[in-house]
Amino acid sequence: MDENSGIRELKGIGEKAGKTFAKVGVHTIGDLLHYYPRGYEVYEDPVTVGELEEGRTMTVTGAIYGRVQVGGTPKMQITTLYLKDLTGILKVVWYRMPFLRKMFARGGVVTLRGRIVCKREGLVMEHPEIFYPSIKYEEKRASLQPVYPLTSGLTNNAVLKAMKQAVESADPGEGILPEAIQKRYGLAGYGEAVRGIHFPETKEEFYHARERLVFEEFLLFILSLRMTKEQEDRMLNQYCFREQEMIEEFLKKLPYELTDAQKSVWRDIRQDMTGIHVMSRLVQGDVGSGKTVVALLAMLFAGLNGFQAALMAPTEVLARQHFENMKRDLLQYEIPLHIGLLTGSMTVKEKKEIYGRISSGEVDLIIGTHALIQEKVQYQNLALVVTDEQHRFGVKQRESLAGKGACPHILVMSATPIPRTLAIILYGDLDISVINELPKNRLPIRNCVVDTGYRNTAYQFMKKQIFSGRQCYIICPMVEESDSLEAENVTDYTETIREVMGRGITVACLHGKMKQAEKDGIMERFSRNEIQVLVSTTVIEVGIDVPNASVIMIENAERFGLAQLHQLRGRVGRGRHQSYCIFMSASKSEETRERLEILNQSNDGFFIAGEDLRLRGPGDLFGIRQSGILDFRLGDVFQDSKILKDASETAGLLLEEDPKLEKPEYCRLRKAFEHVITKNSLETTL
Ligand code: ADP
Ligand code: MG
Repeated sequence: MDENSGIRELKGIGEKAGKTFAKVGVHTIGDLLHYYPRGYEVYEDPVTVGELEEGRTMTVTGAIYGRVQVGGTPKMQITTLYLKDLTGILKVVWYRMPFLRKMFARGGVVTLRGRIVCKREGLVMEHPEIFYPSIKYEEKRASLQPVYPLTSGLTNNAVLKAMKQAVESADPGEGILPEAIQKRYGLAGYGEAVRGIHFPETKEEFYHARERLVFEEFLLFILSLRMTKEQEDRMLNQYCFREQEMIEEFLKKLPYELTDAQKSVWRDIRQDMTGIHVMSRLVQGDVGSGKTVVALLAMLFAGLNGFQAALMAPTEVLARQHFENMKRDLLQYEIPLHIGLLTGSMTVKEKKEIYGRISSGEVDLIIGTHALIQEKVQYQNLALVVTDEQHRFGVKQRESLAGKGACPHILVMSATPIPRTLAIILYGDLDISVINELPKNRLPIRNCVVDTGYRNTAYQFMKKQIFSGRQCYIICPMVEESDSLEAENVTDYTETIREVMGRGITVACLHGKMKQAEKDGIMERFSRNEIQVLVSTTVIEVGIDVPNASVIMIENAERFGLAQLHQLRGRVGRGRHQSYCIFMSASKSEETRERLEILNQSNDGFFIAGEDLRLRGPGDLFGIRQSGILDFRLGDVFQDSKILKDASETAGLLLEEDPKLEKPEYCRLRKAFEHVITKNSLETTL
């Protein structure tokens, strides 16, 4: 068995399991070995029922009390067990596992490890892992257990079993790093790294393994950037742009004046678009700094010059929002341009229609998701592509545009607060402009970090805000990484909120499992204030702009990275109303408090990212709580900035020595790099 063998060669993996693994992109042993844990759990000593705390994952041992029952609905069967020890009785539930009932004997002693939540009837343990008989827990006690990303049908145990076999019996191959580089940076060997990332026996082993894999990941990414940059360098601007009076008029009619930062970025863009070379520009600006209007200006500039401009958003909800807003703006400011929307979930008929209007040049501005760059779309004269909140505008995507005969200006908008030195590495092929001030009319968001005892007060506060005309977001508690459970959880929670809010207030929920049309509908109604409270998972994280929303409450705030919390908070404070952000956390740990306190103190993305890094220190990677910036599989741009710099230096040296990586010792590297490019383009074709 080697890295290229199919996963079915492992014992215990049949057709069905094979299909489940395929869902998460694991087809070969090599894929499996690269399926990294999202964290590690330490199986600590069991506590008593009386010691359980809400919001934590804990282990408890006790006797099965009474009969195990199965209730709920046929679609969502709930198995309930009561566990008793000297200090009390705990209710335990499992979802969709009715067969468990037969497993337990009354009075038997069982050890359960799961998350403790607070329900109406008190503390409940949800969906715990079972150690029955209890002695089974001993094997795991105090050890580090990998926790894998899962999907429905794929359990952690299944991945664990497969992984154990693969690590023990398959030849992992040699990895892609040339030996000289491995030596120079004192990195772990490949086999060692693979073993160490899945089954570390000590923290040191884990760090060492991770360092090597992160180095590889960064190196590949940087190479893919640089190698295309070489080809792309000095692309000439083939579009003729003239100043457009209508843009000045538009700016005059806007209800606000651009900030100085916005003006300066707009100047950069205008210069690029009228310059000798095509534009490749990154606009960095904190949440709410007003990037959209800058993008719109660039698009109008293209449109009024007789060209097409496309705006690509990471989600359909966001694409639709941009479309609706810009359509309204065109109408309101009497700009004679046509706008169209293209998203993946549109019907074939709708798509055909818009394809036609794009290729005939009937629409000037096209808003959409990745569907915008798919083969079937033929532009008449595309001169500008804007990507919003898109961390990786992949190499392949550019190529695919160039393949359409176009070499458009490219503008990337991002709220990711990356220090300049790192940005230059990560976006090596882009010029950078920064919007470093917020619009003047903004009142700073008021923050508070509270524990769950404050919940009712928070609800009452939201009610008050709603009665004075505002709207609220509630980011729902997350459950384990299972989509269906997550959906269930949000729906449940929404019910509770509906009860609390009472009549006259419309509450709706939004989660990843919903159909696109349904999501769009809800977002639209929310933006028209037909919905006052939106209960949501993190799907609303990026970009959504409803200035009338003034409160966001984030449940289980301790489970998010600070950068992500900052993004979430950015959904409010976008208008003239005083806005509030409530971080709800059941965690009593000092460290959690301190982390959340940073958000409490500051609304500045750069500062927060820096503090997050300082607080986490190099030791905290253990939980792999990433800052959530850029979607690397393992690497974290902030945390691993040293590795990023080393990888960047290495990429430079390699390319200097062998620009096309043709030497035999770089062959594996080149192959992997080609693989990465294809993979990136697949990943982004959502
Ligand atoms: P982001 O940078 O997060 O994408 P948006 O572009 O969505 O932010 O802008 C947030 C809100 O601020 C929008 O409602 C927008 O109309 C408004 N806005 C943008 N620029 C200004 C400005 N110069 N003065 C006042 N409000 C502005
Ligand atoms: Mg935005």
